[in-house]
Amino acid sequence: MDRDILEQARSLLKDVTPMYRDCGRICGALCCQPDEAGKGGVFLFPGEETLVKGGWASVSRVENGPGPGLMLTCAGECEREKRPLGCMIFPLTPEVDGEGRVTMRFDARARPLCPLLRNGLMGLRRDFREAARQAMQLIASDPEGLAFLREWEAIERQYDFHL
Ligand code: SF4
Ligand code: SF4
Repeated sequence: MDRDILEQARSLLKDVTPMYRDCGRICGALCCQPDEAGKGGVFLFPGEETLVKGGWASVSRVENGPGPGLMLTCAGECEREKRPLGCMIFPLTPEVDGEGRVTMRFDARARPLCPLLRNGLMGLRRDFREAARQAMQLIASDPEGLAFLREWEAIERQYDFHL
């Protein structure tokens, strides 16, 4: 996808986080830890594979992943400027309507681990919610980015359930 769009989207989120304090201190950074099976990782947006220069994390190709199907696996620590977009928007996820308009909601994958869900969307920083939406709207303005977001959403919905 267009490199400038990717960089602009990343830049919108470079200084803003879900809470004013480091939310990783509340939960022990659960979203950065592997599961009981030692598995975990985050899908990379198209073009983000260049973030892993320096070897601080590894990238593998995953069958049925969104877009290029690249997953980053890290050791549970990273520098903010190298953090993948998928980590920067968590615990939110984009939902794209038929016209390509993006709204943000909680990611179903955050339910079992993220304490921020307790206070609902309004419990998150307003500027974080807005920056995440704007970043995803920018990604959706690129045809490859839009296709990626639709595939991302389809995968995320597999974790959604209703009783
Ligand atoms: S699980 Fe939620 S509270 Fe914990 S570090 Fe991740 S986003 Fe923050
Ligand atoms: S890249 Fe950074 S934010 Fe993302 S899971 Fe790894 S340590 Fe956490």
